Amino acid sequence: MDYSVVAQAYEDMEKTRKRLELLEILANLFKNTPSEVIERVIYLTQGKIKPDFYGIEVGMSDKLVMKVLEKSTSMSKVRIQEEYKKTGDLGEVTKIALSNKIQTTLVKDRLTVERVYSTFEDIANTTGHGSVDIKIAHLSGLLSDCTPLEGKYIIRTLTGILRLGIADYTVLDALAVTYTGDKKNRGYLERTYNISSDLGKVAKIVAEKGLKGLEEINIVVGTPIRPMLAERLSSSQEIIDKVGGKMSLEYKLDGERLQIHVKKKQVSIFSRKLENITNHYPDVSSIMSEINIENIIVEAEAVAINKENGSYLPFQELMHRRRKHKIEEAVKNYPISINLFDIIFFDNEDLTDSSYERRRKILNSIVKKNKKLDIVKNKIIQSAEEIDNFLEQSIEEGCEGLVIKDLQGTYRAGAREYLWIKLKREYKSEMSDTLDLVVIGAIYGKGKRVNRYGALLLAAYDKEEDMFRSFCKVGTGFSDEQLKIIYEKLQKCIIKDKHAMVDSKMEVDVWFKPNIVLEITGSEITISPIHTANMNEIRKDFGLALRFPIFTGRIREDKMAQDITTTMEIMNEYRKQLKKVIN
Ligand code: ATP
Repeated sequence: MDYSVVAQAYEDMEKTRKRLELLEILANLFKNTPSEVIERVIYLTQGKIKPDFYGIEVGMSDKLVMKVLEKSTSMSKVRIQEEYKKTGDLGEVTKIALSNKIQTTLVKDRLTVERVYSTFEDIANTTGHGSVDIKIAHLSGLLSDCTPLEGKYIIRTLTGILRLGIADYTVLDALAVTYTGDKKNRGYLERTYNISSDLGKVAKIVAEKGLKGLEEINIVVGTPIRPMLAERLSSSQEIIDKVGGKMSLEYKLDGERLQIHVKKKQVSIFSRKLENITNHYPDVSSIMSEINIENIIVEAEAVAINKENGSYLPFQELMHRRRKHKIEEAVKNYPISINLFDIIFFDNEDLTDSSYERRRKILNSIVKKNKKLDIVKNKIIQSAEEIDNFLEQSIEEGCEGLVIKDLQGTYRAGAREYLWIKLKREYKSEMSDTLDLVVIGAIYGKGKRVNRYGALLLAAYDKEEDMFRSFCKVGTGFSDEQLKIIYEKLQKCIIKDKHAMVDSKMEVDVWFKPNIVLEITGSEITISPIHTANMNEIRKDFGLALRFPIFTGRIREDKMAQDITTTMEIMNEYRKQLKKVIN
């Protein structure tokens, strides 16, 4: 397949912000893609060569790309730097450089998707001594056979700034349209995606075997499953009304979620974002490899503990584990406990369709508890009063609150439903529930904050439309240290214009790719003529906004932009608030 078809589709996508048009262009691209290459086209469209859990990064530094441009086009180093300063986008610079290129070779080799993909693989796999020269040679080879447009997208992909404005759900919609003729069939594809976390694989199967083929896909130990998530309610009575009957109350521990896969004593650990984080937790691997079962997938919360008395420490302490070097030292200085709360796969049996009651029983039967390994404390109850008492007890012991689980509930990968309900003490007051919002823009600071951002524009996620809609501007709650860290992180997300997936009427000094997630509290949700979250849903030309937002101090590194608070959750919260006022 010619790469020009892919590049042209990307170019068309860049020109529109309308989701329906994006979907149409994407579906057209898939229609023009032979089934042997659909997997590769999907990964490339996601800006990758493999799903994140493979841990393969195609990334090439800006400096290296500039070197290649200097070598393989007629553009001078100074001009390359000037153009880069002007556009902030090496893809654009490449397009200009290739347009100016003096044609030296008359015969060009065909540039296919297969060739682009395998060159990206070669670049990613080249490491060690002399790797820089080899990478330069690989990329020069591609660029010498490129049109300016193809070059633009090859470089954007390699430098990690391919911003097409499409998320996983749009890709699933487009696949459903292409291969089943109806967007409504997305659910079937989603099931396979939820247990494989691999859009390329879903595409390949549905392209080759249709919906029937998807039924043959099963959980694979070693491949992460998209995690089940909890809905939130604000009082014990609401929970009793919603669930009814017996339920399991569990401590909600404040740590990092781990999905642990063990296959013949070989351990892989995945984060909530499904990155492979096995290297951060060598202590977990060694404990789990002692479990004498052929294969197993469990979920746990890793919590930092006090070295002296074993009590729980705040979530921030776990950040010491997020490093590449000297991990043994971190393991010694910052011990953790592993607190299991679910089991998804056990001894060749997929447990996702088993009740929570059964899963918990199995978990109890296989775990030999010790100082490091435990099962999250729980209690089976049926009255509101018991929930309140257990909530207080959990908070006294340093937890965030409770997760209440329906005993008959199955494991619903990738879903946020009421089979799990989280209850935190703060939820009981007016609007003190924390929200996770993504940074989409910033306004420069004044005075003490010169050379930093003074305020950040934040957005919530509209899952239906796959858009990030502005919800508040936050400038308080940041320590100097946090301002610096966030500023540095945001430098990598700067884009020239508003991102295609961002909906905002506000003007800012800098726009960002939606990537950095912050935890925010606020006083209440109000209607707003400026912000675009839930626009026109309550009143024409008005959206919803958060009043008096404050940063809690927590950067949610464990969340991707699509995992943040949704506009639907905001609407529920707004309605709940109204009810309180009316009552
Ligand atoms: P929050 O923002 O409240 O931390 P979240 O958006 O990260 O939550 P939720 O699905 O809303 O994710 O809440 C469930 C999270 O709580 C899980 O991802 C897990 O990390 C954590 N957790 C702690 N204890 C438990 C437990 N006993 N059962 C399930 N999840 C638990």
